[in-house]
Amino acid sequence: MDTEAAISGQVALVTGASRGIGLAIARRLGRMGARVAICARKAEAIERAAEELRRAGVETLGVTADVTRLAEIAALVEGTRSALGPIDILVNNAGIGAFGPAHEMREADWDAVLDTNLKGVFLVSKAVAPEMIRRRTGHIINISSLAGKNAFAGGGIYCASKWGLLGLTYCMAEDLRRYDIRVSAVCPGTVATEFSPHADKDPAKMLQPDDVAHAVAALVTQAPQSFISEVLLRPTQKP
Ligand code: NDP
Repeated sequence: MDTEAAISGQVALVTGASRGIGLAIARRLGRMGARVAICARKAEAIERAAEELRRAGVETLGVTADVTRLAEIAALVEGTRSALGPIDILVNNAGIGAFGPAHEMREADWDAVLDTNLKGVFLVSKAVAPEMIRRRTGHIINISSLAGKNAFAGGGIYCASKWGLLGLTYCMAEDLRRYDIRVSAVCPGTVATEFSPHADKDPAKMLQPDDVAHAVAALVTQAPQSFISEVLLRPTQKP
């Protein structure tokens, strides 16, 4: 596969990349030759992750930024541009969960999850898209979930955020395809990370963060005249 050549020298911004799926995506894109900016809210964790990537030979910028805060997003995008160059690949990965019957959840849970998983993607994409439009190139990849497709008890708030994210993704894809910008969604099933208590599931049978990174690698190496708009990712064995 000529994947390395395809994104060598490009700039990727991955949100929520101090651990888990985001860090695996950043690692993979870095290995493929991209310069990588990563962000998360906790300064120490993002610096540790950035250091790990640098040790692996990836030119990396680590930024403490919360995707729900406009000023921090502006600093993140501007900082990436001035340190690494214009952003070719945006991976909106930052996300949180809150689980329980919707009628028992607090308004604060709704606000936190929707602000991060849905409004955060809107805000970061809005900050990055104008330059992609000017340059007539770019990938925006949104990490949704099979929870954006399937209902389950206790998933009301999280599913609403990920279902909404799919709507945002498909509409932005229509807005931006005329500029040769490709907007896609990746919908993984359960992934073995710190994200949520999957106490009842066998981590060895779950998807691994690298499986999601592999899907992202496939999206960003698609030939320019087409795009994979959605990936549904499942483990072979049910965990
Ligand atoms: P983790 O909890 O392991 O990692 C989440 C990352 O996002 C951390 O780096 C965290 O750092 C960061 N983050 C959280 N909130 C914000 C914020 N407001 N601004 C910036 N960074 C933030 O989660 P996963 O790696 O498992 O999940 C990544 C994405 O994949 C999420 O969108 C999740 O919904 C989705 N997903 C996960 C699945 C799973 O089973 N794990 C399945 C399907 C989809 P910090 O706390 O320092 O900000």
